[in-house]
This record gives sequence, C-alpha cells and structure tokens, in this order.
Amino acid sequence: MYNCKSSAKKHCDITATSWFQGHTAVMSSLLFFLLLLLLLSPASSALEFRYHNNREIEQYLVQVNASNPDIAHLYSIGQSVRGQQLWVLALGRSPRRHTLGVPEFKYVANMHGNEALGRELLLQLIDDLVRGYRDNDTRSLRLLSGARLHVLPTMNPDGFDEASTHCQFSQGRFNYNGVDLNRNFPDAFAGLRRQQQLDEEKREAEVRAVIGWLKTETFVLSANLHGGALVASYPYDNSNGGSEQVGGASVAPDDDVFIHLAKVYSHSHGSMHRGDGCDDGGSFVEGITNGYQWYPLAGGMQDYNYVWAQCLELTLELSCCKFPPAAQLPALWTENRNALLSFIQQVHLGVKGRVFDGSGSPVQNAVVEVKGRKNMCPFRTDRHGEYFRLLLPGNYSFTVTYPGHEVLTETLDVPHGPDRYSAMTHDFLLLRTPENSTQAPPTKVTPTPTCNYTLSQEAAGGAIATTRPTWAVLSVGLGFVAALRSVAD
Ligand SMILES: [Zn+2]
Repeated sequence: MYNCKSSAKKHCDITATSWFQGHTAVMSSLLFFLLLLLLLSPASSALEFRYHNNREIEQYLVQVNASNPDIAHLYSIGQSVRGQQLWVLALGRSPRRHTLGVPEFKYVANMHGNEALGRELLLQLIDDLVRGYRDNDTRSLRLLSGARLHVLPTMNPDGFDEASTHCQFSQGRFNYNGVDLNRNFPDAFAGLRRQQQLDEEKREAEVRAVIGWLKTETFVLSANLHGGALVASYPYDNSNGGSEQVGGASVAPDDDVFIHLAKVYSHSHGSMHRGDGCDDGGSFVEGITNGYQWYPLAGGMQDYNYVWAQCLELTLELSCCKFPPAAQLPALWTENRNALLSFIQQVHLGVKGRVFDGSGSPVQNAVVEVKGRKNMCPFRTDRHGEYFRLLLPGNYSFTVTYPGHEVLTETLDVPHGPDRYSAMTHDFLLLRTPENSTQAPPTKVTPTPTCNYTLSQEAAGGAIATTRPTWAVLSVGLGFVAALRSVAD
C-alpha cells in the first residue's frame, strides 16, 4: 500500500484522482488548491507510519529505486537462511559506483529480528532524504552529494517473520537457525579456538553476506540499529584482558572519535542524551557507553567492522521497547530523525586522500597510520589507492609505508570536516628507496586487504602469554554474561 513514494509519485496519484473525481469547475479548483498545499508542505511524510513486512519493504525499495534512478541503486548482498534477499538501497549522486573522494556510509537495522523500530526508521530516512533531495532541501542535497549512503533495513528478515511484538521477549531475535547474528562474526579477542570453531562455512548466511559486503567497498562509518535500551554503544564490545582493558572499558585506539560519534547521536536525539535508560535500571552518562563496559560480548558486528574492515561502527539502541506499538512510530521518528542525519554527516570527519607510489600511480594496500593509534589491522589504502581516516580536529602525525618505498611521515593540521560536508583532502606521495629504484615495482598486491590478526602482541600490550591460557575460562564467563544480557539489547 504505497500510494505516495516520492513527491513526483504523490503528484501523479493525487492529480489523477482529482481530475477524475472532480465534476465541477469549483471542485476541480478546490482540489487543485489542496493538492498545491500538500505539495508545498515538506513536513508531511509520504511513507505510512506502520510496520511493513518483508515483502512490503522489498516493494517499497523497488519503487524508490525505479522512481529515482539518478540517486538510488538497489542491490542485494545475499540471502537469509530461508532465501529472502538482503536488500540494500544505495543513495547518492553516483549510486551505482564509488566516486573518488566520496566516502561510503551504511546503516543496518533489524539484525535482531524482533527489534523492529530500526527497519521503519530506515524506511522513513530513505523517504525523507529522497523527498528532500527532490525538493532541493539543502541538507538532503549536501548529504547525498558528499557521501554515498547504503541502507540495509533488515539484516534478519527470517527473524522478523517469527518476531513477538512483546516489548521484552526475545522470540524472533535469532535467525532461522536459532543463531544470534550479533555473536556470529569473527572476533579478534576471542582467541584461536573460537575462530576455528567459527570458520567461514560455519557462519550464518546473513553474517557471510555482511562480511562479503564489507569487502566490496571501503565503508568509513556505520551504525547498526537495535532496540531494548536507549543508548549509543561503541567499540570494543570484547576484550581479552590486554592493554585495551582500562577501568572496566575495552578501549579502542580511536576511542576519542567513537565517543564523539556516540555523543553526536545521543545529543541529536530527542531524549537519549539524558541517559535515563529504561525501566530495568541502567543509566548512561550522556546516553553513551563503551560496549564492553556495558556488557562484554564476543562475535559482535561493530568490533568486526572496526577491526577488520576499518569501518567505525556504533550500535544504536533506539527504544526501550523492542517492538514499539505502531502508534508510537511518528514520535519515535521525530526523536531520531535529526540524530540519523547528523550521524551521517560525521562521515566527513578527519582526512581523506590517495597514496601514490614513486612512479605517480595510486597504490593499494599502503599502510596509513596515525601516531598513537595502533589499530589491530592497520588501515590500508583500497583498490583506488584511497584512504579515509576519521579524526577529530587537531594535529596528527601520519606515517605511510609501502614495500620498496621510503617510509613517509607528515604532520597534518586537521579541521572539522562535517560543517563543510567534506573531510580535509591530502594525498601522500611516496619515494622509491634508492636500492629498489631501478627494479620493477615490488610484489603483486591482493585485491582485498586482509589482516590475519590473531591476538597480536602489539595490540594486547604483551599480555598475550598470560591471557591465552585463561581463554577457555574467559569464554565461559563471557558466554554466561552474554546469555544473561541476551534478552536486554
Ligand atoms: Zn539487538
């Protein structure tokens, strides 16, 4: 039931109705006037506020895609266990392919099938951005011009089909195989044993689809939308007791950026920043929390995004009730709209650019590091030789390394990019090392940067030797805590 998917479509439908139903000139004029009023009121949403089933979501996305070929591109990243497509709608000036200098952003909802609000919020977001773009709304134009936005409204359509609409129950949380998708990703902290248990073919179809998706583009910023609490949670979700564990939190090298990102969401949200939490206790200062500090979990999606895909991802808990009554959807959209838009804008933090080798060609897999931020998997340039580094304003020392070339160190003064809808642009030009200067460029690079991180000593501060023997005990402990918390997020 989508009578109005875009302003153009709305115009079409209502105009037709007016012409055929108006029998007198007065009636026609009146209807025309009403139509004009409707078209001139951008505040009204064309998309109905109600829960849409998987088929309806698919129909909606197909329709938006067909009506907006210049800014929309619909694609599937794979199928759920029961064979439902995992549809992603990309929005941007170049929706089908990456544009140099334009960062890739994503939103994922409904990985827990019974946490249903995120699905509807993302549909409303699509509707809002597309209509805003068509209406020449400045913010929509700038958001869709400056970045490419990928929206996956449901990562767990099978779970949604089984979901209880109860506020707290967990029925429908898991995928069709009864697996919690937010515990099924590879985990850098979980040790070799778990990694072997969870090798590629044993991962769930939905998780494999997301992992494959992350290899297709260099996503810079992301959020996955949940329900059952009201807080913006940031990495890490897990720890092995190494140097990352600080005062009950598991602190990522980009902790300052994560805290900023979480605060952008909570303070742009209607009430999250107050940190009241929900009835079951748990309050959060400024509406944000380190994931591990809240409760440890292994195999989560946000840690995977950050560690392996160099994509900074938050877990946004957007409603105390996991499946809020449909009548509350308009108010919940109002609470979240500005936060969802402001968070996208943060994709323009920091610095972006390309790395060129001694012959002036862009190079893939050059390591681009920022002093003081030892990422488990070093951030690398992608197949275009591009890098994106989210950073707060300040002075940073960059080191760029690539085989056969001299190590390049440069200091950059980084401004605040989101205000201008663009990160600072800076290219790095490498010089060949003298002994290699007459040789052919070294080695082939693999098409996809990989990181074989397994409890790296660097990241864990040399504590590996003592923590590894306690892995089994730790995993049992984490599993127990996770099980206790599993009905709460
Ligand atoms: Zn959840």
